[in-house]
Amino acid sequence: IAKGVPTSEILSQRKEHFAKNLSLSYANPIHMYGAAFQYMYDVEGNTFLDAYNNIMLVGHCHPKVVQAGQKAMSRLNTNTRYLYDILGDYGSALLKTLPSSLSKIFFVNSGSEASDLAIRMARNHSSKKNVMVIEHGYHGHTQAGIGISSYKYKAGEGIGKPEDTIETPLPKVYSSNREKSGKSRIDYTEKALEQIQDHTGTIAAFIAEPIVGCGGQVPLAPGYLNTLYPAVRAQGGLCISDEVQVGFGRLGKVFWGFELYDVIPDIVVVGKPMGNGHPMGAVITTEAVVSSFEKGPEFFSSFGGNPVSCAVGLSVLKVVEEEKLQEHAEQTGDYLIRQLRLLQKKHNTIGDVRGHGLFLGIEMITEDGEPNSQLAGDLKNELRENMILVGTDGPFDSVIKIKPPMSFDIKNAEELVSQIDTILSENMVYN
Ligand code: PMP
Repeated sequence: IAKGVPTSEILSQRKEHFAKNLSLSYANPIHMYGAAFQYMYDVEGNTFLDAYNNIMLVGHCHPKVVQAGQKAMSRLNTNTRYLYDILGDYGSALLKTLPSSLSKIFFVNSGSEASDLAIRMARNHSSKKNVMVIEHGYHGHTQAGIGISSYKYKAGEGIGKPEDTIETPLPKVYSSNREKSGKSRIDYTEKALEQIQDHTGTIAAFIAEPIVGCGGQVPLAPGYLNTLYPAVRAQGGLCISDEVQVGFGRLGKVFWGFELYDVIPDIVVVGKPMGNGHPMGAVITTEAVVSSFEKGPEFFSSFGGNPVSCAVGLSVLKVVEEEKLQEHAEQTGDYLIRQLRLLQKKHNTIGDVRGHGLFLGIEMITEDGEPNSQLAGDLKNELRENMILVGTDGPFDSVIKIKPPMSFDIKNAEELVSQIDTILSENMVYN
């Protein structure tokens, strides 16, 4: 058991020095001490199974990533105005994972910075202003980021939708309303096409996540991106894939989310798992986009692409490959989704199980098939009391989010499924 600052004191410091909207997870917040791979340890000596943190791609405190960072930090940390070996090494390793048209990288320090830069590049390249976004999407906390994140501009006393943001609907896809959703999927593509038509010649970019995470782990309907990408391009805009949550092999079958739909974006935005917890982000784009961006002022980020971050990022890519984590995510994810679908048959409180690989969502519903945020919240908090960490999200906060470190294995999946089963059987059934 770790001795340190008492939990009560930490809570009062939070109250005194930080804002209320710096939120905490769980009704009963956890005072963490350490972590390793898919496990986290609190100061009381409890071990939690982390089924939630997609940032820790290859596992919390993976020794190879830690060592790579330590070694690089003890030798040289500087910026991209000097030459050093690893910028090019890491850049080419990252580009190898992407289609050849995406050949230029800008390193930054977070997903928010990356999406902000992507929008700036798209506006610059297209000489247009409007950005089309998906309802309930999230892309970052900068001014531009909030303006393109319906999840935030609508929330609380949010800024409201900016005039230059075009919001297109997110379909309801949970299977208890399958027929309804089948219809709304078609509407969803048609509606977006209509909006493009209504704003033709003004759209700089269309930004979308391949599976809308904050929207409740909602995969895009088949054919959606294949239809919208050409329409956006035809009126002079660019297509941006926000891979911050889903990228780097977590989806199992594919390394990048856009590959699920057989499209190639003009700009890819990455972050979170890229540095396995080390703050990193990047924008990856085409020669054409870069040739117009280069005409502007110098691009410089004090920390973006520094040798320590590059060493960390390169070691993450190496570990994914060496430990075959993408294949592992596919196998474990397939098993988990099958087991969760069996649970769905048993529990009428589960409306849908969706996602790919280790990026899954469980939609909790009421007796009438409507989103059930109360039940999702109760299940999340009850799992936490049983030492399993998951989150909730979606427009109604009714979706359990599962996106663990990729070291999460079949045994962990069994434990998660069995705990959900027990909790739902004991407390939460509709007769
Ligand atoms: N895009 C998506 C899809 C995200 O989920 C997030 C973070 N939740 C961001 C961008 C912003 O990343 P960051 O918090 O690292 O700035």
